[in-house]
Amino acid sequence: MVVTGKERYAAGLDLGGSFVKLALISENGVIIFEDKLEIGFKSSREDILNTLDLAIQKISNTADLEGMSLLGIGIGTPGIVCDGIVIGGAENLNNWINVPLGPIFSEKYNLPVFVDNDANVMGLGEVAFGAAKNCTDVIFITVGTGIGGAIVINGQLYGGYKNRGSEMGHITIDHKGIDCNCGGRGCLEAYASTSALIRQYADLSGKDADTIDGHYIVRKFLEGETYAVTCMQEHTDYLGHGIASFVNTFAPQKVVVGGGISEAGQFYIDMIKDSTFKYAMPDCAANTDVVAAILGNKAGCMGASSLVFKNII
Ligand SMILES: [Zn+2]
Repeated sequence: MVVTGKERYAAGLDLGGSFVKLALISENGVIIFEDKLEIGFKSSREDILNTLDLAIQKISNTADLEGMSLLGIGIGTPGIVCDGIVIGGAENLNNWINVPLGPIFSEKYNLPVFVDNDANVMGLGEVAFGAAKNCTDVIFITVGTGIGGAIVINGQLYGGYKNRGSEMGHITIDHKGIDCNCGGRGCLEAYASTSALIRQYADLSGKDADTIDGHYIVRKFLEGETYAVTCMQEHTDYLGHGIASFVNTFAPQKVVVGGGISEAGQFYIDMIKDSTFKYAMPDCAANTDVVAAILGNKAGCMGASSLVFKNII
């Protein structure tokens, strides 16, 4: 590895329900080293903290070997994050409440540590290195079991007061609609997540929902099966309704759609795009494009590192 002396490097960590992904990343988005460490089922808070610590050690050791100095550490985590502390809201992790991730690791490694919510970090990654590179105003949504997202305004994440907002999956698209996991009713997530798509397909086709996944429905759609075509049209129509509201509110340059199903093919993005432009106000959507995320499962680590690069000028 040739070190120019001008390049800056950061540690990017992506904490999920089963793994900590880790990477050493340069400011121009080159991954120097990456790995992942498993988090055992029902790991304790201490176990998770120890795994994060081990992840940072691995990056730090690699940086030392390569003669690179770390500018800082970025961490994406489930939950609500304010001032480097995970306040709560991470149902998949044991006792992940009031965890001062930033203070713990900045003290231990004597480096600046930046922490944000995982969906926020993925969105920032797409802006820094991915599908929305060179854009300043971007809406990111990730479609999976639920719908998460991020708002980037003028190059910076916007999470509202105390970073408690940007819950893009929980805007209402039917106020008399079905119950949502959040306790609300008629949310975008309840209609347009991959789980909702599977439920709709199972209801229509009479198949057992447990035997179906997103890949199956995409395959059936491409084969022209009527149930799959109907469900996919409805799914992308719901997404377009939700995204149109984001476009009318934020007038983004790009709406980036991530999550496993966003890799189904260009047809998927085209259907969402058609639906978005059908419902959005033309003046608001004049400079907007709808595109697929491109960083895939690297978005978390890359986004986490971009927290460092963006915050240290
Ligand atoms: Zn909801």
